[in-house]
Amino acid sequence: MSRGDMAKPLLGHGSTEGDPGVTPASGRTIGVLGSGDFARSLAIRLVCSGFKVVVGSRNPKRKASLFPSAAEVTFQAEAVKKTDIIFVAVFREHYSTLCDLADVLVGKILVDVSNNTEINHHKESNAEYLASLFPACTVVKGFNVVSAWTLQSGARDGNKQVLICSNNQEAKRIVSEIAQVMGFTPVDMGCMASACEIENIPLRLLPAWKIPIFLALGLFLCFFTYNLIRQVIHPFIREQKNKLYKIPIEVVNTTLPCVSYVMLSLVYLPGVLAACSQLYYGTKYRRFPDWLDQWLQHRKQIGLLSFFCAALHAVYSLCLPMRRSHRYLLIETAVKQAVEKKMNIWVEEEVWRMEIYISVGIIALGLLSLLAITSLPSIANSLNWREFSFIQSSLGFIALVVSTLHTLTYGWSRAFDENQYKFYLPPTYTLTLLVPCTVIIAKVIFSLPCIRHRLLRIRRGWEKGRYVKFVLPRATGEYSSGETSSNV
Ligand code: NAP
Repeated sequence: MSRGDMAKPLLGHGSTEGDPGVTPASGRTIGVLGSGDFARSLAIRLVCSGFKVVVGSRNPKRKASLFPSAAEVTFQAEAVKKTDIIFVAVFREHYSTLCDLADVLVGKILVDVSNNTEINHHKESNAEYLASLFPACTVVKGFNVVSAWTLQSGARDGNKQVLICSNNQEAKRIVSEIAQVMGFTPVDMGCMASACEIENIPLRLLPAWKIPIFLALGLFLCFFTYNLIRQVIHPFIREQKNKLYKIPIEVVNTTLPCVSYVMLSLVYLPGVLAACSQLYYGTKYRRFPDWLDQWLQHRKQIGLLSFFCAALHAVYSLCLPMRRSHRYLLIETAVKQAVEKKMNIWVEEEVWRMEIYISVGIIALGLLSLLAITSLPSIANSLNWREFSFIQSSLGFIALVVSTLHTLTYGWSRAFDENQYKFYLPPTYTLTLLVPCTVIIAKVIFSLPCIRHRLLRIRRGWEKGRYVKFVLPRATGEYSSGETSSNV
């Protein structure tokens, strides 16, 4: 990002005007200790937000040219004397080297922006450690979840939230105001005891994705083994044919849609189970078991992985005709046909099956893409609740039905052909149909007027055994889907 871009403040200097609770940014001097990547980005953003900035460095002459001319770069002690609020943009290992400044730091607010390299690396958080080194200062933890890059590019492109905690309410309020003026959204995380949790946040690796990824890998492994037995091991044992070449593309390509299809049904199954529980107990105020709660919370990730597998399946399928093995088999069939003097091998039923199978598959992929795109926060935030619910719930269910048609047209009559039962194992597609068909049947049952009405009443607060005069809203469509209320 160019300096020119940075020169544009995210919020006008007067953005806090008229709000008696917020001190105007312009005029306030903020100190920054350190002259590294974070200090530099922070100083630039502070200057652009209307603050006076004074940077404290061990070597100000060498570092001054790296900072905007509006920021003053001086020795650490000089910088600290000029301000009451100081961002400590120094690594924890070097905090002790700041102890010489203890006298000039008395009574000042220190903002600890540091992160660790490992989760729970130290006994106490970095902020608590800083507070123990400088007991005469007030320490506030904050800004560590924001990267130097986000500071540079502005809150427009990166994460907008800044998590803040401190034992001193006033200091926390002042730092929150600074964050707000810089264009960030301060989030009060309470007292200093939360610092450890805040410091762990940037170190977590996809916490919400662990269970869905293991689920996808588990399903992939099961279906891959099943397909390997049917497509490679069976012909080898029964006919001594070497079909190992099928493993990289064909076996993988028959496994991916199975995973995608089952994962898609697993997005909707917890909703069905939750509805069953609500119908059974006749209330929405009974807690779901923890495993169901967890499952409900991971539906977005499960759905995105389903889309990922479906997209890979589409690419693999497009590549099938490029393979040498495919060309050989095609030529072999043509030669056989010539030898047997067959002029016409057109099978009308097969032609239609294939046309429908591919068309339905493309529609299913299109719907899954729509679901995936609308689950992205920036798109989801632009939709109102009804639009989001319509796409995720109604269109999602249609995607499941269309995927089922895709699977059925793929399988066609194979389930009734005994040659398809390799080692007595049924064709893979019949196994994949189990969960999705259960979900579809359950959804159809829930849409029956008597059950739908009862479910809607429960989700509006009605409880079995408690008489409450109850009137449902008239056909507003507000609760048109079985899953649109009570976070289910
Ligand atoms: P950096 O580029 O290595 O800068 C660290 C600065 O610390 C140096 O430029 C140095 O400035 C100063 N310092 C003071 N005493 C020091 C000493 N004894 N030895 C070495 N350096 C000393 O690191 P950074 O990326 O800016 O990170 C600074 C802090 O911000 C860290 O605590 C980090 O966890 C946190 N943070 C960084 C990011 C990021 O995206 N970079 C994001 C969130 C949080 P002088 O030589 O001028 O004194």
